Amino acid sequence: MRKFIIMGIQGSGKGSQAKLLAENFDLEHVSVGDIFRWNVQHHTKLGAQVKRTIAIGELVGDDLVESVVRERLAAHDWNFGFIIDGFPRNARQAQFFLESYDIDGVINLHLPTEEVMHRVLSRRLCSQCGLDYNLIAHRPQRPDSCDVCRGKLVAREDDNPEALATRLAAYEEETRPLIEIFEGKEFVATIDASKSVEEVQATIRERFGLPVRST
Ligand SMILES: [Zn+2]
Repeated sequence: MRKFIIMGIQGSGKGSQAKLLAENFDLEHVSVGDIFRWNVQHHTKLGAQVKRTIAIGELVGDDLVESVVRERLAAHDWNFGFIIDGFPRNARQAQFFLESYDIDGVINLHLPTEEVMHRVLSRRLCSQCGLDYNLIAHRPQRPDSCDVCRGKLVAREDDNPEALATRLAAYEEETRPLIEIFEGKEFVATIDASKSVEEVQATIRERFGLPVRST
C-alpha cells in the first residue's frame, strides 16, 4: 500500500504527476479540485455550496474541504493506496491527517517564481468553447484563435503578473508551516518541477524507491 500527499503551486504540473503515479501504481487519485468540479458540473448540493462560495469571491472553507476528503477516503476503494492533492490545507488538518493515515511521504514540487510566472502567464482560454491552451506546451495552430471553434483566445482575468504575485505569496505563507509539520514526521521529497514531465516523474520514483518502469 502506497500513500502520498502531493504539493505544488499552480503551473508545477502537480495534476499530471499525480495522474501518472495513480495510473501506473493503481493508486486512487484524490484531487480536491476535481471533486469540487465534478460536483459543480453535476449540480449536487455540495456543488451548489462550492458555486456560492466562489461567486462571492471566497475560497472554499477548510471544513468543507476536510469533510469531502474524509468521505472520499472513507469510501475506501483504494486497495493499492492513494495520492492526495489539495489537502491538507492548514496545520490542524495536517496533524489530524498524519495521525489517521500512515503515509509514505510528501511529494513537494518546487518551481522557481520566474518559471511559475512564465508558465501561468502563457495560459490561454478559448472565449467561445472554453478549451485550454498553453503557448508553451499546447500551442494553438494560429496564435490567437481556437483550433476547434476559431473563437478568440484570451488570458484568464486573474492570470496577470500582479494577481499571480499575490497568489504566490499566499501559497508560500500557507504552505511553509505545513511542510515544517510534514518534515517533523514524514519523508518530504522536494523536487525540481522545472524539468520535463517525464524527468520529474522519474525523479519522484527515484526518491521514493518506486519502480522506474510501470508495474
Ligand atoms: Zn474554441
